[in-house]
Amino acid sequence: MKPKDVIVYNLEQALGASRCPLCHCLAAATKRYLANFLYESVNDPRIRDQLRAAGGFCREHSRVLQRMGDPLAHSIIYADLIEACCAELDQTAGDARKGHSLLRADKERACAVCQEEAAMADRYVDGLLGALRNSAFREKYRQEGCLCLPHFRQVYDRSRNNEERAFLVEVQTSYLSRLSGELKEFIRKSDYRYAHELPGTERDAWIRAVRFWVGPLDGEA
Ligand SMILES: [Zn+2]
Ligand SMILES: [Zn+2]
Repeated sequence: MKPKDVIVYNLEQALGASRCPLCHCLAAATKRYLANFLYESVNDPRIRDQLRAAGGFCREHSRVLQRMGDPLAHSIIYADLIEACCAELDQTAGDARKGHSLLRADKERACAVCQEEAAMADRYVDGLLGALRNSAFREKYRQEGCLCLPHFRQVYDRSRNNEERAFLVEVQTSYLSRLSGELKEFIRKSDYRYAHELPGTERDAWIRAVRFWVGPLDGEA
Protein backbone atom coordinates (compact mmCIF):
# COMPACT_ATOMS: atom_id res chain seq x y z
CA MET A 1 0.00 0.00 0.00
CA LYS A 2 1.17 3.56 -0.72
CA PRO A 3 1.65 5.79 2.40
CA LYS A 4 -1.47 7.81 1.44
CA ASP A 5 -3.56 4.63 1.21
CA VAL A 6 -2.25 3.46 4.59
CA ILE A 7 -3.37 6.76 6.14
CA VAL A 8 -6.89 6.44 4.68
CA TYR A 9 -7.06 2.78 5.73
CA ASN A 10 -5.99 3.66 9.30
CA LEU A 11 -8.53 6.49 9.50
CA GLU A 12 -11.31 4.25 8.26
CA GLN A 13 -10.43 1.59 10.84
CA ALA A 14 -10.38 4.23 13.60
CA LEU A 15 -13.93 5.46 12.88
CA GLY A 16 -16.82 4.16 14.88
CA ALA A 17 -15.53 3.87 18.43
CA SER A 18 -16.65 7.25 19.80
CA ARG A 19 -13.13 8.60 19.58
CA CYS A 20 -11.26 11.10 17.47
CA PRO A 21 -9.81 9.09 14.56
CA LEU A 22 -6.88 11.50 14.25
CA CYS A 23 -5.97 11.16 17.94
CA HIS A 24 -6.21 7.39 17.67
CA CYS A 25 -4.06 7.14 14.52
CA LEU A 26 -1.46 9.61 15.80
CA ALA A 27 -1.15 7.85 19.17
CA ALA A 28 -0.63 4.54 17.32
CA ALA A 29 1.96 6.16 15.02
CA THR A 30 3.78 7.67 18.01
CA LYS A 31 3.87 4.30 19.77
CA ARG A 32 5.34 2.73 16.61
CA TYR A 33 7.93 5.51 16.44
CA LEU A 34 8.87 5.07 20.11
CA ALA A 35 8.97 1.26 19.86
CA ASN A 36 11.28 1.64 16.89
CA PHE A 37 13.40 4.06 18.90
CA LEU A 38 13.64 1.65 21.84
CA TYR A 39 14.48 -1.42 19.80
CA GLU A 40 16.60 -0.05 16.99
CA SER A 41 17.82 3.47 17.64
CA VAL A 42 18.88 3.44 21.26
CA ASN A 43 22.31 2.06 20.39
CA ASP A 44 22.76 4.38 17.42
CA PRO A 45 25.18 7.13 18.63
CA ARG A 46 23.92 9.56 15.97
CA ILE A 47 20.35 9.34 17.24
CA ARG A 48 21.53 9.65 20.84
CA ASP A 49 23.45 12.79 19.85
CA GLN A 50 20.21 14.23 18.47
CA LEU A 51 18.35 13.25 21.63
CA ARG A 52 21.01 14.94 23.81
CA ALA A 53 20.81 18.10 21.68
CA ALA A 54 17.03 18.15 22.13
CA GLY A 55 17.34 17.63 25.90
CA GLY A 56 15.46 14.31 25.76
CA PHE A 57 11.76 13.89 25.17
CA CYS A 58 9.04 16.18 26.54
CA ARG A 59 7.13 15.27 29.70
CA GLU A 60 4.20 13.64 27.87
CA HIS A 61 6.32 11.52 25.53
CA SER A 62 8.74 10.56 28.32
CA ARG A 63 5.78 9.11 30.19
CA VAL A 64 4.47 7.28 27.12
CA LEU A 65 7.95 5.83 26.55
CA GLN A 66 8.34 4.82 30.20
CA ARG A 67 4.99 3.01 30.14
CA MET A 68 6.32 0.97 27.22
CA GLY A 69 8.95 -0.46 29.59
CA ASP A 70 12.50 -1.50 28.60
CA PRO A 71 14.63 -0.65 31.65
CA LEU A 72 17.91 -1.24 29.75
CA ALA A 73 17.05 1.18 26.93
CA HIS A 74 15.93 3.76 29.52
CA SER A 75 19.16 3.31 31.46
CA ILE A 76 21.22 3.89 28.29
CA ILE A 77 19.17 6.95 27.30
CA TYR A 78 19.15 8.58 30.74
CA ALA A 79 22.79 7.78 31.61
CA ASP A 80 23.64 9.63 28.43
CA LEU A 81 21.29 12.58 29.10
CA ILE A 82 22.44 12.94 32.71
CA GLU A 83 26.10 12.88 31.64
CA ALA A 84 25.36 15.66 29.14
CA CYS A 85 23.43 17.57 31.82
CA CYS A 86 26.42 17.35 34.21
CA ALA A 87 28.76 18.61 31.47
CA GLU A 88 26.37 21.50 30.81
CA LEU A 89 26.21 22.33 34.53
CA ASP A 90 30.00 22.35 34.65
CA GLN A 91 30.35 24.60 31.63
CA THR A 92 27.79 27.15 32.73
CA ALA A 93 28.58 27.23 36.46
CA GLY A 94 30.59 30.43 35.88
CA ASP A 95 27.65 32.09 34.16
CA ALA A 96 25.41 31.41 37.16
CA ARG A 97 27.45 33.88 39.21
CA LYS A 98 26.55 36.54 36.64
CA GLY A 99 22.87 35.75 37.14
CA HIS A 100 22.47 33.73 33.94
CA SER A 101 20.22 30.71 33.87
CA LEU A 102 22.23 27.58 34.55
CA LEU A 103 20.46 25.37 32.02
CA ARG A 104 18.79 26.13 28.74
CA ALA A 105 15.05 26.62 29.13
CA ASP A 106 12.79 23.78 28.00
CA LYS A 107 11.24 26.02 25.36
CA GLU A 108 14.60 26.21 23.55
CA ARG A 109 14.53 22.47 23.09
CA ALA A 110 12.36 20.52 20.71
CA CYS A 111 11.16 17.01 21.59
CA ALA A 112 11.82 14.75 18.58
CA VAL A 113 8.50 12.92 19.08
CA CYS A 114 6.55 16.20 19.20
CA GLN A 115 8.17 17.20 15.90
CA GLU A 116 7.45 13.80 14.37
CA GLU A 117 3.86 13.96 15.64
CA ALA A 118 3.32 17.43 14.15
CA ALA A 119 4.57 16.26 10.74
CA MET A 120 2.44 13.13 11.00
CA ALA A 121 -0.62 15.20 12.03
CA ASP A 122 -0.22 17.29 8.86
CA ARG A 123 -0.20 14.13 6.75
CA TYR A 124 -3.27 12.73 8.56
CA VAL A 125 -5.23 16.00 8.29
CA ASP A 126 -4.55 16.07 4.53
CA GLY A 127 -5.39 12.35 4.37
CA LEU A 128 -8.74 12.91 6.09
CA LEU A 129 -9.69 15.80 3.80
CA GLY A 130 -8.69 13.72 0.76
CA ALA A 131 -10.67 10.70 2.01
CA LEU A 132 -13.80 12.83 2.48
CA ARG A 133 -13.93 13.19 -1.32
CA ASN A 134 -14.65 9.47 -1.50
CA SER A 135 -18.41 8.92 -1.09
CA ALA A 136 -18.15 5.63 0.88
CA PHE A 137 -15.68 7.13 3.37
CA ARG A 138 -17.74 10.31 3.58
CA GLU A 139 -20.89 8.33 4.46
CA LYS A 140 -19.04 6.39 7.15
CA TYR A 141 -17.65 9.65 8.52
CA ARG A 142 -21.15 11.17 8.53
CA GLN A 143 -22.38 8.26 10.68
CA GLU A 144 -19.40 7.80 12.97
CA GLY A 145 -17.10 10.81 12.67
CA CYS A 146 -16.17 12.84 15.74
CA LEU A 147 -13.02 14.91 16.04
CA CYS A 148 -11.58 16.31 19.26
CA LEU A 149 -11.72 20.11 19.38
CA PRO A 150 -7.98 20.70 18.64
CA HIS A 151 -8.13 18.38 15.60
CA PHE A 152 -11.46 19.78 14.44
CA ARG A 153 -9.91 23.26 14.37
CA GLN A 154 -6.89 21.92 12.46
CA VAL A 155 -8.99 20.09 9.85
CA TYR A 156 -11.47 22.96 9.47
CA ASP A 157 -8.67 25.53 9.02
CA ARG A 158 -6.90 23.36 6.45
CA SER A 159 -10.05 22.89 4.35
CA ARG A 160 -10.36 25.35 1.48
CA ASN A 161 -13.82 24.28 0.37
CA ASN A 162 -17.04 25.79 1.76
CA GLU A 163 -19.13 22.69 1.13
CA GLU A 164 -16.52 20.54 2.88
CA ARG A 165 -16.40 22.93 5.84
CA ALA A 166 -20.21 22.88 6.11
CA PHE A 167 -20.11 19.06 6.10
CA LEU A 168 -17.46 19.00 8.86
CA VAL A 169 -19.56 21.35 10.99
CA GLU A 170 -22.72 19.29 10.39
CA VAL A 171 -21.06 16.02 11.53
CA GLN A 172 -19.37 17.72 14.48
CA THR A 173 -22.62 19.35 15.65
CA SER A 174 -24.46 16.06 15.44
CA TYR A 175 -21.76 14.33 17.53
CA LEU A 176 -21.71 17.14 20.09
CA SER A 177 -25.47 17.18 20.53
CA ARG A 178 -25.36 13.43 21.30
CA LEU A 179 -22.55 13.97 23.81
CA SER A 180 -24.33 16.90 25.40
CA GLY A 181 -27.51 14.77 25.69
CA GLU A 182 -25.54 12.04 27.49
CA LEU A 183 -24.03 14.54 29.94
CA LYS A 184 -27.51 15.90 30.70
CA GLU A 185 -28.80 12.35 31.15
CA PHE A 186 -25.99 11.68 33.65
CA ILE A 187 -26.93 14.83 35.55
CA ARG A 188 -30.62 13.81 35.54
CA LYS A 189 -29.85 10.34 36.91
CA SER A 190 -27.72 11.87 39.67
CA ASP A 191 -30.97 13.20 41.14
CA TYR A 192 -32.12 10.83 43.89
CA ARG A 193 -35.59 10.58 42.28
CA TYR A 194 -34.10 8.87 39.21
CA ALA A 195 -31.07 7.21 40.83
CA HIS A 196 -32.76 3.77 40.64
CA GLU A 197 -32.62 3.85 36.80
CA LEU A 198 -29.90 1.67 35.28
CA PRO A 199 -26.88 3.53 33.95
CA GLY A 200 -26.53 3.68 30.17
CA THR A 201 -23.92 4.97 27.74
CA GLU A 202 -23.94 8.28 29.62
CA ARG A 203 -21.86 6.82 32.47
CA ASP A 204 -18.52 7.62 30.79
CA ALA A 205 -19.66 10.70 28.85
CA TRP A 206 -17.69 12.94 31.22
CA ILE A 207 -14.47 11.13 30.23
CA ARG A 208 -15.29 11.53 26.53
CA ALA A 209 -16.15 15.22 27.11
CA VAL A 210 -12.67 15.96 28.54
CA ARG A 211 -11.06 13.96 25.72
CA PHE A 212 -13.11 15.92 23.19
CA TRP A 213 -12.04 19.22 24.69
CA VAL A 214 -8.29 18.73 24.87
CA GLY A 215 -7.53 15.55 22.90
CA PRO A 216 -6.19 12.39 24.57
CA LEU A 217 -4.02 12.65 27.67
CA ASP A 218 -0.59 11.03 27.93
CA GLY A 219 -0.78 9.06 24.71
CA GLU A 220 -4.21 7.46 25.34
CA ALA A 221 -6.59 7.50 22.38
ZN1 LIG B 1 -8.01 14.39 18.05
ZN1 LIG C 1 7.05 15.42 22.90
